[in-house]
Amino acid sequence: MSFQIAIDGPSGAGKSTIAKRLANELSFVYVDTGAMYRAMALYFLREQIAPEDEPAISRACEKIDITLKYQDGVQCVLLNGENVNAYIRAENVGILASATSVYPAVRAKLTALQQKLAQTNNVIMDGRDIGTCVLPDAQVKIYLTADVSARAKRRYDELVKKGEAADYAQIEADIKERDYRDMHREIAPLKQAKDAVLVDSSNLDIAQVSAVIREIYEKAAKGQA
Ligand code: C5P
Repeated sequence: MSFQIAIDGPSGAGKSTIAKRLANELSFVYVDTGAMYRAMALYFLREQIAPEDEPAISRACEKIDITLKYQDGVQCVLLNGENVNAYIRAENVGILASATSVYPAVRAKLTALQQKLAQTNNVIMDGRDIGTCVLPDAQVKIYLTADVSARAKRRYDELVKKGEAADYAQIEADIKERDYRDMHREIAPLKQAKDAVLVDSSNLDIAQVSAVIREIYEKAAKGQA
């Protein structure tokens, strides 16, 4: 069986940065599941399908093909064959991804794809429901979180660094709204799996969080051998 590391947690806790780094160190395949939900959201946005229109979203799911491709270690999300990496990081796409990830048709499609990827590769997968639903038998499960203010500050700094407009109060409000929706939806809500290790990154830098998770992995891998 492949080795599976599941990292779940709210937006801005540092999941993707850490997961990418560890995947590189361990030569695992990194699967950013949020990017898949974002690519689906981009399709709905382009087709002008309202996030409240569940029947239209369910129908649209049948026309969407999501594929992951790796170029020089970077995960590219292909939406019906088009690399959409450049479009899916926008704030509005993230908000729409959160609004549309509540629907069974959206989740079923992406969960199946994620499980397939984990069957044939050693993976580090980050998301909201990886340890609880997608990979319930993952050998390592991490719940990575941080205070809302720490997460908003990171996002704010990231936008400023990119030279984009950033409004701290708005970012914090968006994060709170997204947390609430992700934690309270009916299907696969964000929560810590019973067997996940809680890591709080509020006062830790990337290297420190990586070291903590790496240690958890080493122990689990030793236990398996
Ligand atoms: O992690 P990221 O911010 O890219 O995720 C965007 C949105 O996709 C999340 O707010 C969440 O609603 C949804 N998502 C999810 N399940 C996952 C990954 C992301 O519902 N495994």
